Amino acid sequence: MGFDCGPMLTRRAAAAALVGTALGALLPPASASAGQLVRLGVAVHVAQEQGLPVADQAFIERQLKMANRVFAPYGVAFEQSERHQSEALLPHVRTRSERNALGAFVRPQRINLFVVASLHDVDEPPRIRRGVHWHSATHVPAHYLILSRISFDAVLAHELGHFLGNPRHSNTRGNLMSYQHTDELPFLDESQQRRLRESLAGYLRTGELQPLGIEPQR
Ligand SMILES: [Zn+2]
Repeated sequence: MGFDCGPMLTRRAAAAALVGTALGALLPPASASAGQLVRLGVAVHVAQEQGLPVADQAFIERQLKMANRVFAPYGVAFEQSERHQSEALLPHVRTRSERNALGAFVRPQRINLFVVASLHDVDEPPRIRRGVHWHSATHVPAHYLILSRISFDAVLAHELGHFLGNPRHSNTRGNLMSYQHTDELPFLDESQQRRLRESLAGYLRTGELQPLGIEPQR
């Protein structure tokens, strides 16, 4: 079983991500340095089906817990800072336009995570995906993560890897950005760690992400 993931970023989408967003410009920008833990807020949006959330809170907490294990060595932590549940969110996301439309729900200064019942591949329609880091073509520059409830625990960590500076997949077994995993904790190599640091610094500088806190790493 691999990390099913969406299509790679286009060059244009990647450039849009680097520009940052006016959404985050309300507070002075933060910065981080070595030996610090940056706590990032995740705005969680859960789709509903027949009045019930498509995934329970335990699912979200398992995903966050694994992401925190994976990213702790790199000085990043993730916390659910808000949770929204709405009939307006499609439980089954099949098309590009359905992915794009989620941009309307994006909350500022947070990593936005949409949890859905199913996520289809937009290039090979019958194929099912587990997660994707998606740049909205209709709500530029919004970009966010979409996670299917069928995801095993490390899928959010992998998608956060994309969000935080690593759009490409790796061929190295056990790497966070690889489809081949092992029983060990997934890792980032040195160049991926550098891109993570650069990406995070950019998000904090532009204010696109406003950390919940920056503290000495224990
Ligand atoms: Zn991926």
